[in-house]
Amino acid sequence: MKIILLGAPGAGKGTQAEVICKHLNIPTISTGNCLREAVKNGSPLGLRAKADMDSGRLVPDDVVIGVVKDRIAKDDCAKGYILDGFPRTVAQAEALEAMGVEIDKVIDLEVPDETIKRRLSGRRVCEGCGASYHLDFKPPKQEGVCDACGRALIIRRDDEPATVQDRLDVYHRQTEPVKAFYAARGKLYRVEGQEQVEDTSALVLKALEAGGISEE
Ligand code: ADP
Ligand code: ZN
Repeated sequence: MKIILLGAPGAGKGTQAEVICKHLNIPTISTGNCLREAVKNGSPLGLRAKADMDSGRLVPDDVVIGVVKDRIAKDDCAKGYILDGFPRTVAQAEALEAMGVEIDKVIDLEVPDETIKRRLSGRRVCEGCGASYHLDFKPPKQEGVCDACGRALIIRRDDEPATVQDRLDVYHRQTEPVKAFYAARGKLYRVEGQEQVEDTSALVLKALEAGGISEE
């Protein structure tokens, strides 16, 4: 299965990617994590991406498309994968199609902007492994410390309130049109984000099982 997770920043793509990953035993490719890794390592790719990422803009299409192309060529992707955070523009969706990639389902996580703002302001991420937490909704066992690896939890630069509105604007302008692209191909499955993570996960798993009937 090849699955795309679509949704605003903070809609819970990463969390649902983990759920699907466990369920189907296929890897998750998060372009955000790949890019943050590149920034941390100071690679040429990271140097190109950093300023855009910090200010909440999208990284240029050709950069991200290159990252995905390399990643999906690896052995562990042979049985399928979950794309978390890609495609984020229609040009990226077209590039994926041009590579000959056949997507099975696009799960569109719908969450209102007001909820997004609340979620991102409480988000904390591990500086070591990138695991994501939330002060109210998903607190770590010990304050400020990652459950998984013990490193410190930090606020992502692009989760600063001033940047969040910009990211939402970018999402509405550049990423929302991707929904129509996949709806036209009968691949779009809409899932309303729920208050409780498990409730959203249940809907996502149901969408995965649903045969052929997509919405819109
Ligand atoms: P979120 O979904 O919370 O915004 P991500 O970790 O997916 O966070 O992405 C963080 C940043 O990385 C984005 O704001 C953008 O700058 C860059 N990025 C990630 N994926 C893409 C993509 N497919 N196209 C362009 N830029 C991307
Ligand atoms: Zn960690």
